[in-house]
Amino acid sequence: MAERLLNYISGGWQPSAAGEMLPVLNPASAVVLAQVPLSPAADVGRAVDAALKAFPDWRRTPAGERIQPLFKLKTLLEENLDRLARTLTNECGKTYSEATGELRRAIENVEVACGIPSLMQGRNSEDIASGIDEHMIRQPLGVVAAITPFNFPGMIPFWFLPYAVATGNCFILKPSERVPMTSARLFELLELAGFPAGVVQMVHGGRDTVNALLDHPGIRAISFVGSTATARYIYSRASAAGKRAQCQGGAKNPVVIMPDADMATTTRILADSAFGCAGQRCLAASVAITVGDARESMTEQMVAAARSRKVGYGLDKGVEMGPVISADSKSRIESLIAKGVQEGASVLVDGRGQSVPDYPEGYFVFPTILDGVPPQGEIARTEIFGPVLSLMHAATLDEAIALVNERSYGNMACLFTSDGANARRFRYEVNAGNVGINVGVAAPMAYFPFSGWGESFFGDLHAQAEHGVEFYTQTKVVVERWPRDWSRRF
Ligand code: NAD
Repeated sequence: MAERLLNYISGGWQPSAAGEMLPVLNPASAVVLAQVPLSPAADVGRAVDAALKAFPDWRRTPAGERIQPLFKLKTLLEENLDRLARTLTNECGKTYSEATGELRRAIENVEVACGIPSLMQGRNSEDIASGIDEHMIRQPLGVVAAITPFNFPGMIPFWFLPYAVATGNCFILKPSERVPMTSARLFELLELAGFPAGVVQMVHGGRDTVNALLDHPGIRAISFVGSTATARYIYSRASAAGKRAQCQGGAKNPVVIMPDADMATTTRILADSAFGCAGQRCLAASVAITVGDARESMTEQMVAAARSRKVGYGLDKGVEMGPVISADSKSRIESLIAKGVQEGASVLVDGRGQSVPDYPEGYFVFPTILDGVPPQGEIARTEIFGPVLSLMHAATLDEAIALVNERSYGNMACLFTSDGANARRFRYEVNAGNVGINVGVAAPMAYFPFSGWGESFFGDLHAQAEHGVEFYTQTKVVVERWPRDWSRRF
């Protein structure tokens, strides 16, 4: 029988008060893996109460002690990597190697947050006036929450959780209801890591659960990752409730290919970026803009790369690309391809209407390439979130940069070239927060903030690294004087 998932509240596993459960499906086979509760506000209320109760002691725990469960967690994550990756592949669809790569990124964030005793330090100035010193210290906010998307269930919660708890906050996760099993397995490890009850908690659910988190007066900050429409909504509702918010949204990432790029390497990297994780990465290459003579050689090689990609169930040997997340997603992607054709694009490789022999029920869309996509059309501006690469062509780098900067999203832009001057110019001029030079997925390591711009991000402090530390702390400035002689006038 399919597992009925539980919430993790106050150091224990609790059934939700939810009347409604959703099935969690393996997108490669449509087999039901689990039932996830759509937790009501009462469950959120219980988690917030437990967090508020835990907070005074947790914030008083020295930073060096607060990170001890994180060290333990790192070991537990390493030891359980295979089991976690299999769960991730089964509910999310990506391949086993994509799943382990994702989990490595999660571990990296745990490692960085273990540096909190240094990262969280304040600063001070002696004698800002005669005999007066000034100190800035960082203190935790209290109870904070994160709402995460389906496409990186092993990594994205870790953009937030390690920093939040290491800085002394109590943290509540609302994972995506489409992939809640990875979070369930992760919380089993968090339980073993030894955090006090109420410091790390998880409440499953959907919209109503999110709204309860956004409106609860006990929660001080909201971190969100998901589509732009939801990011915008969450940012405004959380801010209206007086909370800090950092909301990362969707993307439509352009990649520019210069004629001087090494075409074999470029196409290999570009194919991984466009079709890896079935195109369901917020840093997937979605539009390739060839400059000048790059058009012919690159198009030919990309078509070959798309046709040869092995699609199937992510745990089967040799599979390079899994299914998309759901039947709805498959049909949405296929209709967007049709829309592109209506707008005048030609389909060089058509991934619609295909199936994988051993998995006839799976939600597979094969790699697709659309050529001559009109820059002003809907397909050029809409996030497809599937394995579809649109090709555009420009005469010069200037023209290509103008095409890049026309978009409303700003998650990533990449350039392939062997010319340093082109690279510098591109890096300097593009409106995107994550830039790749001869790199197809410019995902910042945990030591740097994940810097989306434009409609890909609402807020100012991003996830990871020092931005995470700043987001989860408030500064306090103390101005003090300690005279030897109180009778002196000052
Ligand atoms: P989504 O917006 O549908 O859902 C994200 C989360 O929000 C889920 O936990 C969901 O339960 C909740 N949610 C959805 N609709 C809601 C509503 N109306 N009210 C309240 N809560 C709601 O996103 P998704 O489909 O799970 O994820 C894919 C999207 O995430 C893509 O657009 C992708 O680009 C984006 N993404 C962005 C980044 C980034 O760093 N910018 C990273 C990963 C994914």
